[in-house]
Formats: sequence, structure tokens, C-alpha cells
Amino acid sequence: MHKPHTFRTCLALLVASVPTLRAQDAALEWTEPKRTAAAAVDARAETLVDASRRIWELAELALKEHRSSELLAALLEQEGFTVERGVSDMPTAFVASYGEGHPIVAYLAEFDALPGLSQRVAPVIDVLVPGAGGHGCGHNLFGAGSVGAGIALKAAMQKHDLAGTVRVYGTPAEEQGIGKVFMVRDGLFDDVDACLSWHPSNENSVSVDPSKALRSFEVTFYGRSAHAAGAPWKGVSALDAVEAFETGLNLLREHMPESARIHYVVTDGGQAPNVIPARASIWLFTRGKDWPEEEQVYEHVLKIVEGADLMAWGEEHGRPERGYRAPEVDVFTGLYHYNPNHAAARAVHANLVLVGPADYTEAEHVFARHLQTAFEVEPDGMHTTVTPFDPDAAPEPGGSTDVANVSWICPTIDLSVANWPQDVPAHSWASTAASGSSAAYKAMLVASKVLAAAGVDVLTKPELVRAMRAEFEEQSKTFPYVSPVGPEVMPGLPSHMRGD
Ligand SMILES: [Zn+2]
Repeated sequence: MHKPHTFRTCLALLVASVPTLRAQDAALEWTEPKRTAAAAVDARAETLVDASRRIWELAELALKEHRSSELLAALLEQEGFTVERGVSDMPTAFVASYGEGHPIVAYLAEFDALPGLSQRVAPVIDVLVPGAGGHGCGHNLFGAGSVGAGIALKAAMQKHDLAGTVRVYGTPAEEQGIGKVFMVRDGLFDDVDACLSWHPSNENSVSVDPSKALRSFEVTFYGRSAHAAGAPWKGVSALDAVEAFETGLNLLREHMPESARIHYVVTDGGQAPNVIPARASIWLFTRGKDWPEEEQVYEHVLKIVEGADLMAWGEEHGRPERGYRAPEVDVFTGLYHYNPNHAAARAVHANLVLVGPADYTEAEHVFARHLQTAFEVEPDGMHTTVTPFDPDAAPEPGGSTDVANVSWICPTIDLSVANWPQDVPAHSWASTAASGSSAAYKAMLVASKVLAAAGVDVLTKPELVRAMRAEFEEQSKTFPYVSPVGPEVMPGLPSHMRGD
């Protein structure tokens, strides 16, 4: 059995990875501010990797990431950032800033884990804490890597007198699509010139691919309890309403647009078979290729809620004297489709080429091949090149992200670096294992350097800021931003996650 590299080995390799002149893009070279930024990342490699590893170990879930969030906020404070904690009614959300005035560069730091994905850094399924969460989406890397970028850009600003502001946004509950949605709604991104984001991945690339719009909501149906054997005719089953609702949803599938999606889990199906459930809940995501398509599907789904409720109650429907209570629809969040910015994407891609991919050891490739073999994908190890920039977006959007909401407020870009083996899926035991491995930490520092270098470009190239803004303004005409959640909505979770 392969034994993954130790942390100490990982650090030794990091020190050896000081940037060299290997830019394939002749237009971009290592300027002094970029060298300063990259050196600042290397100087703090141990601290950043340690923070990421600690967050991986904590594996805190959405809106409960107290220690993970504080770890990053404290690190930024120690580095001279001013930190405002608990923004947008979320105790784990923060905004850290340094400098003043424009241009304003924003980095996003996520840190929430996924439920049920606890896993050791091992090449086989090996649960660390049964039932606990795990960093299958690599947000331990996302958070610490972005903090590294912020600290590095600040170092370059100080040493080379670069004017502007750098902010690091601590954005909780990305897996629930919550953090940024509320921070955007509350205007925290309104003055940003460029949001330079990234996400752990299995390849080194910058894409302008779209993402799906998504709404997360829970429907609670109400019935009337009775003895399930002795007098079932006296009861009304809320679970029947859930089942009728599911049937309606599944009939809808054939007739909705191919790019739309519906998925759900039953969060409350009653307490015991011999008590007819008086309450039952189901949590859903509806998705569309864009927000208007999602809204169309959602409106239809609301009609199915009415129909299912009518089926369960029959002639007693709408009669409170018989115990009738109308179903409740609790909307948690809405994610827009992603608005890519080509000018920002090209700038970040050029810096990715400049910094170059991480140098993985043979042992790290071997570990990657073990994970790939487990998923029956090509055992070709880690991605060691940079995917050429493709200005054409993929025709079909895949997943969804709350970064998309930011992308309708300011020019935004998503960088990917190879933290995971190629073709190994995210949200899996393997991506959880990979996210705690030396190869992942090494690639995380590449992300820090690329984003810091791109930040230097934003601060020093007014023509880049103008190009990003012009493209953004043009694109905004196609979809004027209105918050998908109203001012009355508080950041919240489905019933089974609240513990009520
Ligand atoms: Zn993620």
C-alpha cells in the first residue's frame, strides 16, 4: 500500500519551487512586484499549508465553520489586514482589507466541508471519523490559497508603492450556495474592480464556461396524525403529499428543458410507521441553464406543490377546522448563472502560464494513480501542463456556484489548479483524500502566486481594468442583476441541518 508523502517532505519541495522564468507567454514576464508577491508566498508556505491542513482536519460544515473562519481571519489580521467579522448576518463571514481606493482587488476564501465525506489521506476508502464531514471540494485549499494571494499582493503593494485595495472575503457555506449570495445582496462587492477567484481542480486552466442557475428550497407539507393501523382513514399523511409531489416532479422531467435539473432529498418523512406523519419535508435544488430558465421550472414546481397537497387532503383541503395547514416553501438561496469575463480570464491565464504548474514528485503521481485506478479513469497522475486558453465557452453548463452572483456585480474569473488527480471527481472520498495531500498543498501555493500576480496586473495596468469593466458593462445589459433573495431572507439551512 502506498504511503502518502509527509508534510515535511511537502515543505521541502515547496521551498525548491521558487518561480523561474518559464513563461510561455512572451507578453508577460516576472516584474519586480510579481517576484515580491511570489517570494511572499514562499516565505509563508509553511503557515499557509498548516492553515489549510488544519481546516482539512476540522472539516466544519456550512455556517458552522467557526474555527476554520477564525483561523484565516486571524492570519490576515496578523499580516496587517483590517478584518470585519460576522458580516451579512453570518458569524463565519468576514471581509479583510488592506490599502485604500481603487483599483480594488477581491479574493474569495471558502472553507466549508461536505457532509459524510470524512476520509483519511489514503489511496483507498478509509473513513477518518464515521458520519463526519470531509473536504471533498478542497475548500481547505481554496481558503488558505486565497489568503496567501491576499497577503502576497499586500507585500507587493507595500514594497513597490502600488496604490489600491486588496480584500479577502471569507465566504461561508459555499456548498449550500449561501455565503456570497447574501454578501452580494448586502452590497459588499459593489465597488470591486476585479474578483480573482479560483477553485481546487484536477487541471491547470482558466475557463469561461458557464454554470447553471440554482434555487435551493425546502417544502414542508402538513397532515393530521392518527393510528396508522387502527384508524388510518382519520389521518392525512404529510408523507403522502411528499410522495405525490415527487411523482409530479418526475413526470415534469420529461417536459422540462434538457438543460434544467431537479434533485431532492427527503429531510423529514415522519417519526414512526404506526403514526401517520403530520409533517413531512423535502429539500430541493431546481436548476436551469440561466436564471430565467430556472424560474420557469420553479413556477411549475410550485404548482405541483399545490397539486400534491390537494391529493393528500382531498375534500378536507383548505379547511382549518379539520386541521388543514397549507404547505410552506422556504427558499434558502438562489444562484445565478455565471457571467464570465474574457479580459480577466486572459490576464489570469497569462499569469498561470508565467507561474507554471506545480512540480509533483513521483510519489505524488503514484498516489494520484492509485486514486485514478479506484475510479477506473486513466492512471496518468497529476496534470503537469497548463491547458491553453479557450475563449469559447462549453455549450452546456455543469454545476452551480455562488461565485456566479459575484460575477454579475464585478468582473470575475475562476482559476483552476491541479490539486487532485486528473479525472478524479470532486465531492468524492478520493478528492477528500487528495485535498489533504502534499500535491494539493503544493498546487494551492501555485494558485496563491497566480492570483497575486494577476492582482499586481490589476493594480498596475489601468488598460486591463478598463477592458474588464467595458466587457462587464456590455454583458450586464443582457441580465440586469436583482438579488435572488429578498432583504427579509436570513442565511439559513434546511430543517435537518438546523437541528430543529
Ligand atoms: Zn467547491
